[in-house]
Formats: sequence, structure tokens, C-alpha cells
Amino acid sequence: MQRLDNFINNRRVASQSTQFSPVFNPVSGEQRLELAMSTADETRQAIAAAAAAFPEWSKKPPLTRARYLFKFKELLETRRDELAELITLEHGKVLSDAQGEITRGLEVVEFACGIPHLQKGEYSLNVGRGVDANSLMQPLGVCAGISPFNFPVMVPMWMFPVAIACGNTFVLKPSEKDPSASMLMAELLAEAGLPEGVFNVVHGNKEAVDVLLTDERVQAVSFVGSTPIAESIYAKASAHGKRCQALGGAKNHMVIMPDADPDQVVNSLMGAAYGSAGERCMATSVAVCVGDEVADHLIARLKEAIDEMQIGPGTDTDPEPHMGPLVTREHRQKVIDYIGLGVEEGAELVVDGRSFTVTGHENGYFVGPTLFDRVTADMRIYKEEIFGPVLAVVRADNFDDALRLVNGHEYANGTSIFTRDGDTARQFEEHVQVGMVGINVPIPVPMAFHCFGGWKRSLFGPLHMYGPDGVRFFTRMKSVTRRWPSGIHSTADFSMPTMK
Ligand code: NAD
Repeated sequence: MQRLDNFINNRRVASQSTQFSPVFNPVSGEQRLELAMSTADETRQAIAAAAAAFPEWSKKPPLTRARYLFKFKELLETRRDELAELITLEHGKVLSDAQGEITRGLEVVEFACGIPHLQKGEYSLNVGRGVDANSLMQPLGVCAGISPFNFPVMVPMWMFPVAIACGNTFVLKPSEKDPSASMLMAELLAEAGLPEGVFNVVHGNKEAVDVLLTDERVQAVSFVGSTPIAESIYAKASAHGKRCQALGGAKNHMVIMPDADPDQVVNSLMGAAYGSAGERCMATSVAVCVGDEVADHLIARLKEAIDEMQIGPGTDTDPEPHMGPLVTREHRQKVIDYIGLGVEEGAELVVDGRSFTVTGHENGYFVGPTLFDRVTADMRIYKEEIFGPVLAVVRADNFDDALRLVNGHEYANGTSIFTRDGDTARQFEEHVQVGMVGINVPIPVPMAFHCFGGWKRSLFGPLHMYGPDGVRFFTRMKSVTRRWPSGIHSTADFSMPTMK
């Protein structure tokens, strides 16, 4: 069985670990690879490589650092089909979706190429007579990234391009479920000429992560994953004096007003709920219909659209299916159990994807698109993140009820409203307590020059990912106040300095 190694100092380094984690092909259920779970010592080796590279790397002019990323982008563009295939083989999403993930990740690389402009700091002349002040945005040192399975390329790219463009060095711990894409990215960074130790990859589980959270050489930890793990990562990293941003799970609502265009709603909802088999932190998992008429009409239209969906291996291209399998057997079972729970809780199961199979791929981790009606806020299938192709329709009497429902949920990653009424949209935008809001946009993932992040239990830490917040996260501010002989008073002053 092929093994996947760590990547330290621009080389693959075989792990000495005796603990392995299998990586599966979700279409066939067959094992593809064996992944060594790095020992604490191996994780420390990666940190040591990053720490050794930091002094030289941080001294390079910002534009020189950016040029490595320009080169990386160029190389990645030429190998993007290969990268997309790796994503699809291990994650299961269809190829066009994998390509979309790469594009959204590359946008952050493009943003990072312009970081010299954002890292300039500020300057004020004459803050006191003959006194000038300026600020420096300096890199932190070794930064760590821990990423989830559902975007094996895009989420690491939310982190490392910004971190290294700002002058930090980086250790990535990718998901153990689909780790191959991160190795190809590491190789392309090395091919782009990135100096040894600036970007490293260690594979592993809690043991490796704990080293990243506690080693005093690591200055900052960027995490994306489920809420319970995000919360514990944030607590542990903070307790060890590191800055941390930990993005967690989601339950994203789409509010559908009676005046919304029905065709736009159905098309948007189908993609947002079932694209990538619902394994997106910005997937719409709850449709809140304002009024029974809206709900009845929507359910009828969704049933028709679901009937026409094609589900199959993500690598198929003629035609490409709309969605592929879930990532693992365990995850498939978890989603199936949630569907059973919804039935027990009294929700109306309109379309049941539990017994869905794809001919010729009976061992694949497929679950068919599933639709529940009359879901209520007290049900676990409403409260908890399912992370599969399961859409819950909740009926609300009016806009205020819909807004209260969205604001009452503990997750607050993304949300959207579909309406043609500007006043309603404006009310929603102002009062909804969610980090990312779409107005007639189902998956409002901000562009790379804005920032990505939820509220409440979808994000622990004050700073969002990438964009200006990313630059703030990966730099620390130093304020300098200066004067020269003409501004220096000749007598000692024992009172608190003020502007004179
Ligand atoms: P996960 O929390 O299981 O794993 C995320 C990472 O943490 C992986 O690298 C994993 O190896 C590591 N990990 C797992 N258990 C750990 C432990 N006990 N200690 C230390 N590290 C541990 O998440 P997942 O299943 O890979 O990804 C899906 C989740 O990620 C969903 O909840 C989804 O909503 C969330 N997600 C959120 C965002 C966002 O932007 N908010 C984006 C993508 C995914």
C-alpha cells in the first residue's frame, strides 16, 4: 500500500510512526493510501525547519516574497487538472466543483501577491512638535494551519499564502481523510523556489495537533473544522499564549419571501443544498419559507428537481454528475442516522436518500438527496450540523418569525434571503446575526480581498480568514514614535508626555 510522507525542508520525509490512517476512494470504498500519523518528534522537526527558515525569510523584501507566490500560481495553473483529480479521488466531489475550489483558493494567492501594499503600516508627520509616528506590521514567526476534509486545497490556501507573504513560515496539518492535494501544493511551492522550511506539511491526528498548539516556537494557529474541535483548539492555543482563529461548523438558513422569483429560488437552493453532497460549511441546510403557499410550492418544485439529479462518481465527465459520494463510510452512516432521527422527531420526509446506490459502485459512500418538510426549531435535525445532502424546510408565518429563527441558532456562518423587496433585504442585512449574508446569493463566500468568517459558535477568535483580517492575523503591530535633535527639549520633563 502506498504511503504518504511528511514534507519538511522541501523534501518528502518518511515517517517513523507505527500508527497509520487509511485514505479511501469514496466511490469504490477501496483504500488508496496509508497515511502515517506523525509522532510528536516528527511534528517538532517540521516546527524546527520553519523556525530555522524564519529569520532569512522574514528579512526578504515583501515584493521578493510575493514573487514566489506569483510563480506558485503560475505552476499551479498548469497542474490544476491533476490537483482537481486528486481532490475528487479522495474527497468525492465532482471535478468541476474541485476546479471551483482551486479557483477560490488561487484568488487568495492572487490577493497575497498584493500584500506588500497592505503591510505598509501607517505614518503621521508631526504628531507633536518635531515628533513623527509610524507603525510597522511585522511577521510573527512560525504559524500553523489545521484544515478540514471538505476543502483540501481552498482552506489551506485561505491560510498559508497570507501567512508566508507577510513574512512568516508555516506548518500545515491537513485532514487525514484527503491529504494528497496538500502534498502536490507543497511540491509546487518548492518548485517555485520557496526556500527550505518556509512551508512544511505534517500528517497526523490529535498528537501532532497538540504539539502545534503547545510548542513555544509556534506563534499563531489557524484552524478550520467542526465546532467542538474548533472550540478546544482555540482554548488550548490561547492558553499557550498563541493567537488563534478557529472556524467551526454551520447551519445556514435561506429565507424565502413570497415575492422571490420561484425559478431563481429553486435553482439556487438545489446547488446550495446538494452541491458537494452538502459537505460545505456554506451549504444551505435550512430553507425558511415565509408562508405555507411558498413552502407548498417550493416542496413540489424541489421534488421535481431532485428527481432529475444525477449522482455518481465525481470523475465522470460525460455527463458530469451533480454530486458524488460522501467522504467516508462513517460519515455516510452518520448522515443516514440523522435522516432516521428526523423521521423519529416527526419531520415529514419528502425525499429519502438513505437507500440510494449507484450501479457498479455499490460500496461507494453515496447518500441520495434528502428533503424534509415541517422541520421545527426544537428538532435535533434542525439544531445540529448534518453535513450531508439533507435539506430541511421550516415554515415561518412572517419575516419577523423567520429572522428570529435564524438569529436563535447557535451557528452563524452564512445565510441568505431571496426577495425582490429592497426594504425587506435591508432589514435582513442590518438585523441578522450571521457573519456572511447573501441577498439573492445562495452561497455568499466573500472574495479574497474581503474576509471570511462566521459569528457565534461558527468562529472562535476576533479575526476572520484572509483579506485585511488575514493580514492583521499574521502580523503584529509595532508603533514607533521618533524625534530628531531639533525636536528634543533640553530640560528633563517628569510629567506624562503630552503633545506640546
Ligand atoms: P474536524 O473538526 O473533524 O477536523 C478538522 C481538523 O482537525 C482535521 O485536520 C483533523 O485531523 C483535526 N482534528 C480532528 N479531531 C481533532 C482533535 N481531537 N484534536 C486536534 N485536532 C483534531 O472537521 P472535518 O470533519 O474535517 O470538517 C468538517 C467540519 O469543518 C464541518 O463542521 C464544517 O462545517 C467545518 N468547516 C467549517 C468551515 C468554516 O469556514 N467555518 C469551512 C470548512 C469546514
